[in-house]
Parts: sequence; C-alpha cells; structure tokens
Amino acid sequence: MTITIHRGTHEIGGSCVEIRTPQAKILLDLGLPLDFDSRSQEQQEQIRREALEWAQEADAIFISHYHADHHGLLPDTHRDVAIYATAGTAAMMHVTEVIHGRGDADYLHHINVLSKEADDRKFEPIIVDDIRITPYTVDHAAYDACAFLIEAEGRRILYSGDIRRHGVKGFLYHNLPRKVDCLLLEGTNLATEKECMSEAEICERFKEQFRTDADKLHYIWCSGQNIDRIVQIYKAALVCSRKLIVDTYVAYVLEAVHRFKSSIPSPLSPFEGHDVFRYFCLPAQLKRLEEAGDPEIVERLKALSTVDTKDIGRNPGKYAWLIRPSMLYYMQKYSHTPSVVVTSIWEGYEKDEPEFMDWIRERGFTNPHIHTSGHADAKSLQSIVRHVDPGLLIPIHTAVPERFATLFPDRTIRCPQDNEPIEL
Ligand SMILES: [Zn+2]
Repeated sequence: MTITIHRGTHEIGGSCVEIRTPQAKILLDLGLPLDFDSRSQEQQEQIRREALEWAQEADAIFISHYHADHHGLLPDTHRDVAIYATAGTAAMMHVTEVIHGRGDADYLHHINVLSKEADDRKFEPIIVDDIRITPYTVDHAAYDACAFLIEAEGRRILYSGDIRRHGVKGFLYHNLPRKVDCLLLEGTNLATEKECMSEAEICERFKEQFRTDADKLHYIWCSGQNIDRIVQIYKAALVCSRKLIVDTYVAYVLEAVHRFKSSIPSPLSPFEGHDVFRYFCLPAQLKRLEEAGDPEIVERLKALSTVDTKDIGRNPGKYAWLIRPSMLYYMQKYSHTPSVVVTSIWEGYEKDEPEFMDWIRERGFTNPHIHTSGHADAKSLQSIVRHVDPGLLIPIHTAVPERFATLFPDRTIRCPQDNEPIEL
C-alpha cells in the first residue's frame, strides 16, 4: 500500500492524502489551503489543477468533516467520482453551498452518506476494490467529524482527520482502533505547549460572564456551524435565564442537524419546558434559502415569530445574541444599549474584521474571549498515540512536524514532504 500526502506535511489546512494499491486509489480529504483567498490568481488556478490531478482515476474520496480546509476543492474534481461523508458532514456541506456557494455544486449529488450499524454506534465499512475503509466518530469543532481506518494488503492505516480530547465527545478517542501499522495524526496545536480548556469549562465561563454583566446585552461572535459551542452557549443561557437570539442562517443550520440528531436544540423544534430561543430574521439569508435551501425548513422559518426588537433595547440583560461581523448593521441599531461582545472564535480572525473591532472599541464595550481550540493539545495527542499504539507515526495538518520527535521520543516517526510516496 502506498501513502502519499499531497498537501499537509508542513501546513495546517488544505489536507489531501492518497492511498493506493495496484488495484485501487482513494483520497482522504481534498481541502482548500487556509490562505487560498490571499494567493494570486495564478497560484489559485495551480491549486485547482493539482486537485484535479490528484482526483484523477480516484475510485472514491472520503471527507473527514465539513471544514473547507478538508473538502473545499471538491468542486474541482471529476463529476463521476464517488464521495463519502457522514450525515453531519454531508448536511453541513450542503448548507455551506446554499449560503456561500459558487454555484458549481454538482459534486453534492455524488455524496454518499456513510451509514451506521443498527445500534447506531459503529459505521459500516465501505469496500473500494481491495481497500476497506471504516469511519470512526471523533470530537472536533465540526459536528459529526470522523477518522478513517484503511485496510488493504494486510496492513492498517488510521487517519485522524481533525481531532481533540477536550470537547464534549472527547472520550471517543478510546474507540479508535489499536495497534495499527501507521497513524497519520494531526498536529495543529504543536507550536504551543498550552493546554486547552474543555467545552464544559467554556459553558461555565459563559454562565460567569452572563452573571457578571447581568444588565448588559451579550453579543457572541461564534461560528454558526460550531454546533458543540452553540450547545454550550444554549446551556449557559438556559441556566442564566437569558433568551438566545439566533438569525435565519443559524436557525437553518441547527434544524438541519436536529433532523438527524434530536438532542441538538433548534428554534424550529424547541424542547419542552425550554423557552430559550428567539428568532431574528435576516431577509437576504431567507431569500437565498428560498432559492436553494430545503423548502420544508424554509417554510417553517417563514412561519416562526421574530424577537421583539424593541425589548432588546429595553431589557438588554435578558438577551444573548449569536452574531457574526457581517451583522454589524443590525448591531449598530443598539449602539447605545449597554453591551458586551464575547469573541468565541479563534482570535486570529479579529484582524480580518477591522470595522467590527473598531466599532466595539469606539462604543467602549468590553470584549472578553471565551474560546477553546477545535484541535488536540500536546498532552491529548500523547494520549491518543498511547491508545492507538501505531507502528509508524506520520504528522499531518501541522506547521511543525519536527515537534513530533520531541513529543514522542519512543516512537518511529516519519516526516515526509508533500507528494512523497511512502510504501507500507
Ligand atoms: Zn477542521
């Protein structure tokens, strides 16, 4: 079996791994480099051409989760290659295409949803010629993310995808297969020694914050697709009797997930006894959803009553509002309302939003940061490696692959270059 990491040996994001036997070839992820938008047009075209080459004659592409740095080059593949993803990944890729799509979403029709066994705990393996692929659910900032076990020619490879141990489902790493011949492990956080805060602790921080500034409106800048984070904020709002305002996009996302995972809260399907959600309609988003979204969800969104916007100004301490910088126009209507803007997203994104950050400063609003990484810290990576106990360890999705040698002094490690084939 030959493993070739096309991109990701010395880079966070843009991952693509090829596994090949004489009979078959599969790809694991086909991601867009994180700095894609800032690259020249020539470089962007080159990246697209490469993706097309890698996908050439591929029998199947397996996507670990719905972050663009893992699937963003799918529109550039051949139309007839089979794509496999979990239900959550497939649902969210569809939502992303509806909201931000470039209009070339043909690949969405080639996605096969990976099915689970009857007890819903394990995935059924997929057979691609002489390669057998089994997904394993892992914890990450993307809902329903998975790792893949690849078995062929008597060998076993485990690809972690993006993984962490400090999320609500962090314990899932215990279910990963053991004693594999090779583990391809992500190392996003290896540039720092810092330990990551748990998602449970994030919930506590939000409760504390809601109580500290009890009379203030709380805006929360958070990814509308970070389901586990939204659940933590929802729980904190419930306990502190705050109403959680979500806009059309977030309501749509939550319902899309709630449909296959009923424990995820959604304003369209509120839990009995929980009066938490308030709905804020974004007309432009609703129009886009009407054109391309799921008609059943759209109809229900149109019928949903909206938040009393005057009451937000009258009783700011009653509300927490999930926002994105693109919603600044609406926030400006409450410029004189005592407010806190919580950043619950990677701090690095702040520099991309100068107008938004200036507004917070000008208004004199406090801006606490309540966030934890979607990726494992060094200690967690050690736990994962101890559990999996691989014969060979290969770093991926990291800017510092050489750090693996310090972290795992007793392990056999190989740090290849991009496109360098490794025979197993
Ligand atoms: Zn990710």
